[in-house]
Amino acid sequence: MVSSPALTGLRERFRANRIERFTESVIREMTRLAVRHSAINLAQGFPDFAAPEDLKRAAHEAIDADINQYAITWGAKSLRQAIAQQMRTNHGLDIDPQTEVTVCCGSTESMISTLLAVCNAGDEVVVFEPFYENYGPDAVLSGAKPRFVKLRPPTTPAGEWTFDERELRSAFHSNTKAIIVNTPNNPTGKVFTRAELELIRDLCVEFNVLAITDEIYEHILYDGTQHISIATLDGMRERTITINGMSKTYSVTGWRVGWTVAPPQITNAIRKVHDFLTVGAPAPLQEAGASALALSADYYRKLADGYRARRDRLIPVLEEVGFRCFKPRGAYYVMTDISAFGYPDDVSFAQYLVKEIGVATVPGSSFYNDPRDGARQVRFAFCKRDETLDEAARRLRRLGGVGN
Ligand code: GLN
Repeated sequence: MVSSPALTGLRERFRANRIERFTESVIREMTRLAVRHSAINLAQGFPDFAAPEDLKRAAHEAIDADINQYAITWGAKSLRQAIAQQMRTNHGLDIDPQTEVTVCCGSTESMISTLLAVCNAGDEVVVFEPFYENYGPDAVLSGAKPRFVKLRPPTTPAGEWTFDERELRSAFHSNTKAIIVNTPNNPTGKVFTRAELELIRDLCVEFNVLAITDEIYEHILYDGTQHISIATLDGMRERTITINGMSKTYSVTGWRVGWTVAPPQITNAIRKVHDFLTVGAPAPLQEAGASALALSADYYRKLADGYRARRDRLIPVLEEVGFRCFKPRGAYYVMTDISAFGYPDDVSFAQYLVKEIGVATVPGSSFYNDPRDGARQVRFAFCKRDETLDEAARRLRRLGGVGN
């Protein structure tokens, strides 16, 4: 039997230093808390409704056809071709599926494989904050240092989250390797404008920096906003890694099929990392993915319309009970200001919501480098059935309009 002091020593001995530099995902932790407290989960962004029938049938058929062994490590040919085709149709980009597309286990693996493939110790990666919480640890795991640039919330109801041009410029240096852009944005719902992307482009070109763009919500847009892929801007095609995946567009977050699109040399590097990390994404689900990407424009229209209706179902309730909402123009989250409730911080309020009110959210601080910056915010995900949103509304009304 080993005594406890020795055990402590052992624990330290077998824990890598890099682990110390980030915490566990709060989003995933909130899902566990939601389950424990039987709360409505408006924390983690996954749909609670069915995936398209055609897509499920395609997955069944692929398994029945015994597509049950490894796909080519960088992705089934059919899916890579479908991805290239979609890039052509949606963005007018001419992509070679043989040399420029890598299928990974979700866009999550796409991001970490990309950073591991392009970053060295001492490099810096510019990240807008609030940011999707994986980006910070992803940068750290790749040896790079994240450098945060603030997206500031709108001050008027019609305003948008935006950044300060000078602040962005001052984040670029000779050791800047990449900037991560996420549009439509999680958690703010911001959709970057052409003018903003051009500013980013100018800095990337001037400082010889890559743009790593997470476009997983590209089809979820509201109020007539347009998604612009930064790779389509002059000078960016050769320095952009575009990340996307099936999770959000086809409501299959558990399938873990995502991809990168990047120039051949960068793709080569990403493929090397990807191969040794995971070998490949699930083969039958990649085949199903190839058929999903061929769905008609009508599918995407309905997807966005459905999310707009859900957004417009949830926000009035949140406002009625005292949240100040930052109306999203894309993606399926709403960031809120919780000042009116008088809680000391976002974490204690989110704990109260999940345990006493029965609704799980994500505390704002998990989207910021300095937790104090998110201490007055929580994020709601509205990718849920009407019944789920209505039950959440019923529970949230127990807050009793505290903020009114
Ligand atoms: N992107 C989703 C969110 O922000 C899910 C994240 C995850 O847990 N993979 O909630």
